Amino acid sequence: MPEGDTIHRAAAALRTALVGRQMVGFDAPRLTGPAPRVGRTIESVDAHGKHLEITWDDEIVLHTHMRMTGSWHLYRRGEKWRKPRRLARVVIETVEWVAVCFSAPIVETYRSDSFVRHPNFGRLGPDLCKADYDVDECVRRMMSYPEPTKSIAEVMLDQHVVCGVGNVYRCEVLWACEVHPHAEVGTLPQSACVELVRTAADMLQANLHHTARITTVGTPGGLAVYGRNNQRCERCQGIIAIEQHGQPPRLLYWCPECQTRCQPAPKRDDSNPLARMTDPHPAGAQFVANLIDEYGRFSDVDELEAS
Ligand SMILES: [Zn+2]
Repeated sequence: MPEGDTIHRAAAALRTALVGRQMVGFDAPRLTGPAPRVGRTIESVDAHGKHLEITWDDEIVLHTHMRMTGSWHLYRRGEKWRKPRRLARVVIETVEWVAVCFSAPIVETYRSDSFVRHPNFGRLGPDLCKADYDVDECVRRMMSYPEPTKSIAEVMLDQHVVCGVGNVYRCEVLWACEVHPHAEVGTLPQSACVELVRTAADMLQANLHHTARITTVGTPGGLAVYGRNNQRCERCQGIIAIEQHGQPPRLLYWCPECQTRCQPAPKRDDSNPLARMTDPHPAGAQFVANLIDEYGRFSDVDELEAS
């Protein structure tokens, strides 16, 4: 099991070999998110705890999490790999080097400039890493969000509302506040907005001076939901779920059992054949609701496996 210092050494080696070099080959068979393009230059390699992030000059960021099994190897071109090819999750090639990530459970990319840009929000939101951030301004921006039906999970990532929250913290903050990630931002009461902002700022500021992100003391690794899909929630023992959420899609981890605050009302979708079948009798409606629930869950699983 790789410890943080192992990842930091791997990051240092990758940095030396890759940063400033042009990428001549890229392969990631189960990648979630946009692929960096051949010909682009690798700009940075950063380790945070067991997370490793590689950034290209077109703002694509590759995020890998090692958990128990993952590791990064660096090879000279033509050198024999120490693990079988079928375990490779990411292969990054430069003229001289081949960097291979084996068996990492999380391999996803996103665009670092992919935050929503609204004309109403000309400038970035307050930086939650600063002790004197303006909580009222953050709450004002959240409550007057130009698209009130956007989910709070998406809005937490919009740096025009608050600055500093990335994918790990948005999952952890929503869990800590027991807020349903699909809650429409326009329906959140002020008290919930204040709590989300304060919790995010507390987490970010508590983690400023060490590299491992720790948001809870209850689980190994220090994270309550992020990267813990299919494991038990420490608060309710429910099973932590994973889904692709938002535009562009990012991996969202959450506990459907206990994150029920501000849960959105289920939508009636007339285009759904199951919804059209709804029997006016309450028992019939319940039966169809269960079917839709199962249908929805199965379609999520298919999407994840197909990606
Ligand atoms: Zn739970």
